[in-house]
Amino acid sequence: MPSASTAALPNATMASALADARAAFVAANPESRARFEAAARVMPGGNTRTVLFYEPFPLCIARGEGARLWDVDGHSYLDFLGEFTAGIFGHSNPHIRAAIDTALDAGINLSGHNTLEAELAAIVCRRFPAIEQVRFTNSGTEANLLALAAAVVHTGRKKILVFQGAYHGGVLSFGAGPAAVNVPHDYVMAPYNDLARTQEIIRQHGDALAAILVEPMMGAGGCLPADPAFLAGLSDAATRHGIVLIFDEVMTSRLSPGGRQSELGIAPDMTTLGKYIGGGSSFGAFGGRADIMRRFDPREPDALSHAGTFNNNVISMAAGIAGMTKVLTPEAIRALNARGEKLRHDLNAMFRRRRAKLQATGLGSIIGLHGTDQPIRTPADLAAADPAIKDLVFFDLAARGYYIARRGFMALSLPLTDTDLAGLVAALDEVIASRGALLVRN
Ligand code: PMP
Repeated sequence: MPSASTAALPNATMASALADARAAFVAANPESRARFEAAARVMPGGNTRTVLFYEPFPLCIARGEGARLWDVDGHSYLDFLGEFTAGIFGHSNPHIRAAIDTALDAGINLSGHNTLEAELAAIVCRRFPAIEQVRFTNSGTEANLLALAAAVVHTGRKKILVFQGAYHGGVLSFGAGPAAVNVPHDYVMAPYNDLARTQEIIRQHGDALAAILVEPMMGAGGCLPADPAFLAGLSDAATRHGIVLIFDEVMTSRLSPGGRQSELGIAPDMTTLGKYIGGGSSFGAFGGRADIMRRFDPREPDALSHAGTFNNNVISMAAGIAGMTKVLTPEAIRALNARGEKLRHDLNAMFRRRRAKLQATGLGSIIGLHGTDQPIRTPADLAAADPAIKDLVFFDLAARGYYIARRGFMALSLPLTDTDLAGLVAALDEVIASRGALLVRN
């Protein structure tokens, strides 16, 4: 995209700077706009996945290769969004491509068990030792739905403890209280990273709680790591009260070879997975203690049904096996997360040097950008951030060929080079310099 939007005067107001940036975006993206308008005739808001929508219209991506994307107007971007963590392999990994080709050669939709599903299950159980047995789903949302159902049946209790600001799927979303489309469990809300208050709530509801559902770092909630002591305290309380502790590691499992749970030495009763584990194809999984998972054994007299036409689809299974064995080795995961740590450090050092009202949060290869220099530890702290700053940064980065989520979320993929990472720091440095007082503490 042309960089006309970056020529705003330092003393322009935020509103006029944003208006200029949007106008430049509209002018540069006629084909994306036309696609959006056509889509909106047959899909509400031209959209089938709410997170991808933004004003004035979202870019329409035509293709990807390695760590690079091209939109339908011909602009090229470095992909720092990485499909919200599912795209860890980049867009054209040859091992995954070959595995999918081989699966296609053997035919799809086989109407039966296949030779791949148990192999991927064994890989998952080896990587995450707290998962003694596992079942697959089509998405992380489904994985959480099934884990919650398992906990309710296992305990004979109804209440589910979740955290304010948490996201566990479109129907398990707790941004500003439960979303209207949420599945109607009996939720009890607690404040993330506040162990004392959460312990009090657990004492209050203790024996009525079936499950505690927690993400070891809030991903969609702003890349806010859980304090290790907070998670350890939840684990103790769950054990004491006979509550099923579910770690949603749909995103965080990629932070180390065994997920965040292995880094912290906490073995949750159940774990949910998704995103990248299917090699970039649709995927979800729930698993954990064998005595809980046993209920899904169809040979048991009291067996629970778990359906899903595509749960064992050969494309996800084959891509997942290749991804986890040939590409995302423990060494590769560690190296990618070390690069993410360095990038976050470099970004924050540059923000401080420029006195920018910006900071990068997160862990390893998952990064959140926020429009404030005040410390952020909990979802409540996000109130200090100015959403307009994120909007402006989004447009200004897109204009320079860097693609991140409109809400500031980034997830690194393997094909991003060190030069690419340094390029992002330099591009943001330039954005801050060009926007002057709008982005800097005076
Ligand atoms: N849990 C977490 C922590 C997630 O980040 C997401 C997706 N962003 C989900 C669950 C839902 O996964 P899916 O989009 O595959 O349904």
